[in-house]
Amino acid sequence: RIAYVNGRYVRHADAAVHVEDRGYQLADGVYEVCEIKRGYIVDERGHLDRLDRSMRELRMDWPVERKAMELILREVIRRNHVRNGMVYVQVTRGVAPRDHAFPTKPVRSALVVTAKRMDPRAVEAKAAKGMAVITVPENRWERVDIKTIGLLPNVLAKQAAVEAGAGEAWFVDPDGTVKEGASTNAWIVTKDGSLVTRPADHGILRGITRATVMKVADKLGLRVEERVFSVEEAQAAREAFVTSATSLVSPVVSINGKPVANGHPGSVARSLREAFFEIAEKSPTC
Ligand code: PMP
Repeated sequence: RIAYVNGRYVRHADAAVHVEDRGYQLADGVYEVCEIKRGYIVDERGHLDRLDRSMRELRMDWPVERKAMELILREVIRRNHVRNGMVYVQVTRGVAPRDHAFPTKPVRSALVVTAKRMDPRAVEAKAAKGMAVITVPENRWERVDIKTIGLLPNVLAKQAAVEAGAGEAWFVDPDGTVKEGASTNAWIVTKDGSLVTRPADHGILRGITRATVMKVADKLGLRVEERVFSVEEAQAAREAFVTSATSLVSPVVSINGKPVANGHPGSVARSLREAFFEIAEKSPTC
């Protein structure tokens, strides 16, 4: 495997950043993950637009021009022979003597790109089974709309899920409403067949997959309501599912041990998943 690190293509096993990279020491960085399917990058424009927004919110500069970034993504995908899988992009504020405040001398932001193959059949088999979800109290900062590499609460939430035999953890506010998953957006399907997902304010990440699923829903003639919903409402819903670039649309079959409907993946989530690739923006990798 090959990784891109600050201007070089290196063996993945040897790919490393400096000990004073601000991402490593301070989590002062942002990232994106894009799905690669059948040789296409899915929703590349949306992901790079969000990367641009995350960097602007943190007053970070692009490490290379956007056109160069697109070429680097493709080169990493090509060198790793990825037709199905994902590409990871990370930008940090660069290498500087450790200090919480921004470096006073100009430093170049640091760019890391990796890509990974995933077996599409294994991915589909996992989605077909559906996943259990647990809930955890929201304990993240107030700007999780910025896609930063500061993911410790998400790490702990996902670990709690794994230890409970679940696939995802949903962050829940003190008022009992669902925010989003540790690495996914959360959705339910109401008894009358409408899709419900939380409004994308500063309290959740505005998922690129979430936005595409809204378009897919529109094509399928399904109504989407952007509003808060509670854990109880989700447990009593017709269906629940999560979305993200790597999981696409994945059905949720139980929440805190309580089955959603009959405890099997629902047909709405399946239809959304099946139609997803047709509707998503596809950029060729070569
Ligand atoms: N919320 C969080 C906290 C995430 O980490 C992710 C995955 N990056 C998502 C939602 C889903 O976003 P996307 O559809 O853009 O992958």
